[in-house]
Amino acid sequence: MKTLETLSFDNTYAALPETFRQRVSPTVVPSPYLIAFNADAAKLIDLDPEEAKRPEFAEYFAGNKLLPGSDPVAMKYAGHQFGHYVPQLGDGRAILLGEVRNSIGGKWDLHLKGGGQTAFSRMGDGRAVLRSSIREYLCGEAMHALNVPTTRALCLVGTDMEVYREHQETGALVTRMAPSHVRFGSFEVFAHRGQTDEVKTLADYVIGLYFPHLVAAEKPYLAFYREVISRTAELMAHWQAIGFAHGVMNTDNMSILGLTLDYGPFGFMEDFDPGFICNHSDDTGRYAFDQQPRIGYWNLACLGYALMSLIDADDARAAIETYAPAFNAKMNSLMMAKIGLQTSCDGDLKLWQDLIDLLAVAKTDYTNYFRILGNFDSSPDARNDGIRQRLKLAPMADEWFNRYSARLREESRTDADRREAMNQVNPRYVLRNYLAQVAIEKAERKDFGEIERLMSVLKHPFDDQPEMAHYANPAPAWARGLHVSCSS
Ligand code: AMP
Ligand code: MG
Repeated sequence: MKTLETLSFDNTYAALPETFRQRVSPTVVPSPYLIAFNADAAKLIDLDPEEAKRPEFAEYFAGNKLLPGSDPVAMKYAGHQFGHYVPQLGDGRAILLGEVRNSIGGKWDLHLKGGGQTAFSRMGDGRAVLRSSIREYLCGEAMHALNVPTTRALCLVGTDMEVYREHQETGALVTRMAPSHVRFGSFEVFAHRGQTDEVKTLADYVIGLYFPHLVAAEKPYLAFYREVISRTAELMAHWQAIGFAHGVMNTDNMSILGLTLDYGPFGFMEDFDPGFICNHSDDTGRYAFDQQPRIGYWNLACLGYALMSLIDADDARAAIETYAPAFNAKMNSLMMAKIGLQTSCDGDLKLWQDLIDLLAVAKTDYTNYFRILGNFDSSPDARNDGIRQRLKLAPMADEWFNRYSARLREESRTDADRREAMNQVNPRYVLRNYLAQVAIEKAERKDFGEIERLMSVLKHPFDDQPEMAHYANPAPAWARGLHVSCSS
């Protein structure tokens, strides 16, 4: 186990040429204090969880002190924001403190969000507010527990610094972790300036470290692009299946490793609505829930364009055509598991798609509906009143239940076994906006207990946790009009 001073840094990104990053130290903040610490993430870097009790911990993860071995940089990138190319973005308020190797060969970025201005801050203050930092901290771990590829979060630090958004707010910093924070936009920034040498340098760097199995491929850059396509397709399927809307799928928020990256105005689906727009700033619904798979494709086309100097155009076109089949295959396997089917038969695709349509008509709570569907009794004379009742508004529901019941009887599994398997993929608990909001409002009054409680519930989303049952409730009336915007 390592202490804060003995972490094994191996700063590969900082070692890239100057043009890829700016060397910058975080700006000191007044009186930082630790709000939340995630021992599971600490394990990833072999950090002794006892270290969180030291007063220096908050100083290090506020950026007031530099961890020995850290070599802080802001990463350069560009990106397509809401469909428009913005030539220079970059880490405007996040600072890569360094990369830590663990004893089993993994390597993790320590990425401090809210660490002060950098060369890429444009008009921004380089800071993050408490509410958005809490949301990012909780959601990374919630998604990880839901088996969705994502960045993680090590800790949340508060400060006495005031930050101005629509009004004055409390400033905070979240330290997130991922094997890499390279984005689609990290390639775009060089490609759009015609800096093809830099595109190649970055591609070689990323392939060498994160896709080493492709180094010896006949066409490594093409193989790399194909793998990003398949990872992104799978990520989109995960989001759709779990009912997660990201909210800001700009290419600068698209991870080259296929991770959920940059938690802003995200939302989990409650009353099912395929056109759900979680981001109040998204006027046209570009990033609406049901648009995500299509936008994933669009973003991959941007990446393909950025890699054009390395990949033959016909190869790139053929590669991107693998996106839809990869998405469909993953989506089908996730949805088959959600409705509890082990074998596959003609008509299964239509079976789960019809259920989605029924949920949309009935506007039923997405998470809770799949969870109770696990209780379905497939014997021919079973009534399943409770489960049917919730879809009663949908005219075709009876026909669907008859079809589902007959289909389940073709499976060899018992209802009890099926229920158990379904409970492993249909969560009882997700980070509903109002749950985050309650934790945020308490935290703004310096009561941080709810962050801890919520985190402990979300770390075991598939367990019933009867004493925590109220965390599975749909949004109460007061929370129905909650808005989340890009402001963070
Ligand atoms: P986001 O919408 O959070 O993905 O941010 C888009 C871009 O704006 C990124 O380059 C961020 O680093 C930058 N940015 C967002 N908020 C701030 C801020 N308060 N100060 C400086 N840069 C920011
Ligand atoms: Mg971003």
